[in-house]
Amino acid sequence: MSSSKDSSSCSAFSRRTFLSSASAALIAAPILTEAHFARAAAMGAGMVPTFSMDGIYLDANENPLGPSEAARKAIADIIPNGGRYAPPLYFNLMKLYAEQMGVPVDHVMVYDGSSPPLHYTALAFTSPTKSFVCGNPTYEAGQRAAEIAGAKIHAVPLAKDYSHDVEAMVKADSGAGLIYICNPNNPTGTTTSKEKIDYVVSNKSAGTVLLVDEAYIHLSDATSAIDHVKAGKDVIVLRTFSKIYGMAGIRCGFAIARPDLLKKLENYGQSPMPITGMIAAQASLMDAELVPTRKKMIADTRNKTFAWLKENNYSFIPSESNCFMIDVKRPGPQIRGLMAKDNVHIGRSWAALPTYVRVTVGLPSEMEAFQTSFKKAMDTPAAAFEEMPMRRGYRDGVRA
Ligand code: PLP
Repeated sequence: MSSSKDSSSCSAFSRRTFLSSASAALIAAPILTEAHFARAAAMGAGMVPTFSMDGIYLDANENPLGPSEAARKAIADIIPNGGRYAPPLYFNLMKLYAEQMGVPVDHVMVYDGSSPPLHYTALAFTSPTKSFVCGNPTYEAGQRAAEIAGAKIHAVPLAKDYSHDVEAMVKADSGAGLIYICNPNNPTGTTTSKEKIDYVVSNKSAGTVLLVDEAYIHLSDATSAIDHVKAGKDVIVLRTFSKIYGMAGIRCGFAIARPDLLKKLENYGQSPMPITGMIAAQASLMDAELVPTRKKMIADTRNKTFAWLKENNYSFIPSESNCFMIDVKRPGPQIRGLMAKDNVHIGRSWAALPTYVRVTVGLPSEMEAFQTSFKKAMDTPAAAFEEMPMRRGYRDGVRA
């Protein structure tokens, strides 16, 4: 039984003190994906998500095209083998992926999406004495894991062109454990040049690892940081099949790094891979037309939407990805809330850009519905806005 003396002496230990002394302990952190953030943002704005599939969902950077034809057929064909773990599929996929990335097979590790390795990397390389450095705004999942590891967070504002301000990021803490660069960035859809990534590699401290999250790279003209992995640097690159490959609900992703870095992630967890995810990823990788065709389709729809925004004098951040941000000149959740009434669901806002909303590029027909609903919401006189029932206990739309 604990006495009051016991509990008061326990409370004298801060979480950070505890974590510093528990250096050998592994820390459990919930793996958050874009779906968690999107759902919690809707709840935080007082909306009750219906989770019906017939609305227009432009809120989670998904790909409405879904898996390719070849991936769908591969999934259907593998179903009779669903009773098996199928290790050959696992090794074949790792081998194919490593060949296509031009690295030895021990430099790649497959996961059920890139969320698991993103979390494991943050947990493995940050601690109360090793901080986490990221852009602001950026994708929050790595920061959340680093906070659970007790790390100090240095959220460095993006540069004026919305690229990562790499000089400020390197300067933020010479003892950082991890520098996180999302390229293209979520939520802005903007890219950080290869020269800037090179700058981080050349100027970071020896004990700092650079994590480059390339979830959206196929949608842009950004140059991958893979060459730093090939050169044996302290760099981890993450890729997912959730975006251009349209497999967010099927699940597959990769970490690409030196084997000793990948080994450190293993301590935190590995993914039991669904055979549907593995076979669909393999079929997608073997389809040479998939990436260029989809990149063009999504860019055409995005650019058409940008032309409409310009014609209507709405300000937005030019993006190279499947999402972009619009300045709605009022708290973003107000517009999200109004549009949700039309069953058009747009993305969340970030504390660094509170009057901006993030919108995912959908199908051309979905973007037409977006335009109608968005204009209607923007034309609603400010006085007519209902008080949005914002709930307490949410931070950036996520339960704090
Ligand atoms: N990284 C970024 C930047 C993302 O936006 C997302 C999801 O949207 C992920 C990683 C994780 O995606 P998944 O776990 O579906 O691969």
